[in-house]
Amino acid sequence: MRACYPGSFDPVTLGHLDIIERAAPLCSHLTVAVIHNPSKKTLFSLAEREEILRQQLAHLDNVSVAHFTGLLVDYVAQNDIRAVVRGLRDSSDAPIELQMARLNREMQPACETLFLAATGKYSHVSSSFVREIARLGGPIGQLVTPEVARRLQQKLESKEAL
Ligand code: ADP
Repeated sequence: MRACYPGSFDPVTLGHLDIIERAAPLCSHLTVAVIHNPSKKTLFSLAEREEILRQQLAHLDNVSVAHFTGLLVDYVAQNDIRAVVRGLRDSSDAPIELQMARLNREMQPACETLFLAATGKYSHVSSSFVREIARLGGPIGQLVTPEVARRLQQKLESKEAL
C-alpha cells in the first residue's frame, strides 16, 4: 500500500522522524509530503524543508520526499496513494485530526487516514516549540537531530544578520 505523511516540517523533529520510521515498514512506499502554502510564512523555505528531510531520511529505502499545494485529497488521488499517516500526540491533537480525516474521507472515500500514537518521549515535541526555543537560545538537542539543530542555528544567525 502506498501512503503519504503530510506536514509542514518547519523543521522536521525527532517526533516526525519517529512516526516516519514506524510507518515506513507498514507500507510499500511512504511519501513524506511537504505542504506548500504560499500564504503561510515558514522559517525554512520549501526547498530547504525538502532538502533537510531528504538528508534525514536517506537511510530509509521506501521513503521519498515530495511537496504539494492545494488539497491533500487531490494529491493523494493523483499519486495512487491509499492511506494518509498522521501522528497523534495527545487529546488536544484529536479534534482537528479527526475533523480533517473525516473531511478527507468524504472527499476521497478511497483513501483512509491512519493514526500512529506519538512515542511518549516525543509527545511534547512540535516544530513551533523547536523554533521558539532555538530563537531564545535554549537547548534543542533532545528535540531534533544534530544536523537540524545546526541548520536552525545557521538560519537564525542569517536572519539576525539582516
Ligand atoms: P501541521 O503542519 O499539521 O502542524 P506538522 O508538520 O507539525 O503538521 O506535523 C505533521 C504530522 O505529524 C501531524 O499529524 C502531527 O500531529 C504529527 N506530529 C507532529 N509532531 C509530532 C510528534 N512529536 N510525535 C508524533 N507526531 C507528531
